[in-house]
Amino acid sequence: MSQTIVIAHLYPREMNIYGDMGNIISLVKRLEWRGLRAEVRQVEIGEAFDWEAVDLVFGGGGQDSGQLAVGADLVRHGDKLREMAKAGVPMLVICGLYQLFGREFVTGGGDVIPGIGVFNANTRAGSVRMIGNVVAKNDELGALVGFENHSGATKLDKGQLPLAKVSKGCGNNPKSGYEGAVSGEAIGTYLHGPVLPKNPQLADKLLLAALKRRHGVQELQPLDSSFELAAAKVAATRPR
Ligand code: GLN
Repeated sequence: MSQTIVIAHLYPREMNIYGDMGNIISLVKRLEWRGLRAEVRQVEIGEAFDWEAVDLVFGGGGQDSGQLAVGADLVRHGDKLREMAKAGVPMLVICGLYQLFGREFVTGGGDVIPGIGVFNANTRAGSVRMIGNVVAKNDELGALVGFENHSGATKLDKGQLPLAKVSKGCGNNPKSGYEGAVSGEAIGTYLHGPVLPKNPQLADKLLLAALKRRHGVQELQPLDSSFELAAAKVAATRPR
């Protein structure tokens, strides 16, 4: 039987915009192309969830209204998710859920939505809407490309590692010059698009971390990523 990993998909109904679902498809396909398998389990508001079986956590972006809808339920899972992040379970959370994996998000209307503190960061809605193409460089992964659309401005605490240094676009906020956050194998980012099909090195980093923990896999079978990398190249030359 082929090696399987379990992916937890956080609130796909409320938190799924600008193609975020494409990230799940990318993870599943990159496993299948290597003869491996993923089982995707959806985390839904108010429902019980078995975290013990989970090898990788994914959550997308959403409107403020979506964040308000899922916020309290995410906090219900907060202890478990923090424990898993500390244990090195790979996670990718985008925009709206990135904000809620920080300590809190304060909306433009003044609602305070508590987060779960996987990242030492706070987000507050600002008057500038950060919208457009982004290119940001990570030391290990190289240039990451994507599309941002948020008014929440995220401030990382001193000592909180960002994901990448921005060369086009805003990322965390209009002033910092940095994009996203990294705590161990947990990654938060503003990059939509979806981000993984155009950044296969990021997809494979998450998959390898999951396969290593569950099955002791030390390296991934290489794939031909020429289409994906060609897409990334085009995205990188798009105007802001
Ligand atoms: N509502 C949040 C913001 O505008 C998140 C947006 C998103 O997930 N794209 O900052």
